Amino acid sequence: MAEKRQCESCGGKLVSRPDGSFECDGCGRVYPAGQVKAAEYTRQERKAALEHAVKERHELRRAEWESRKEEVVRKAAAERTEREQKAAKARALEERLQKREKLTEEKNALQTELARSRSLFTGKHKKELEARIADIEAELKKPD
Ligand SMILES: [Zn+2]
Repeated sequence: MAEKRQCESCGGKLVSRPDGSFECDGCGRVYPAGQVKAAEYTRQERKAALEHAVKERHELRRAEWESRKEEVVRKAAAERTEREQKAAKARALEERLQKREKLTEEKNALQTELARSRSLFTGKHKKELEARIADIEAELKKPD
């Protein structure tokens, strides 16, 4: 820092004064405190500023990278959710179809039983069969 404390006019040595300003011991030029401070902007400070800028740029790049990574993770999670929802939907559809198939089979069996042995049944048993068939038909009419 000291090497910068030189007079811009004559290269003389700047001597500090009680009010914070400097005076050239060669030509007597007075430098206000702030001006000298600006002149003392040394290579070290420039280096620190540059390093800070590099660090900021690096952090910015890392933030961009992190946000891209988050985006990828978010996308993957959304895709997984979509796949799971599709699979659940397919399972539900499969279950409904199986249920309908079972009910249809039961209905057919009951109708066959009813037709084949009508004369052997008591009125009560016949009514039970017919009631169950009606239940199944109502169930099958329900929308999926
Ligand atoms: Zn001077």
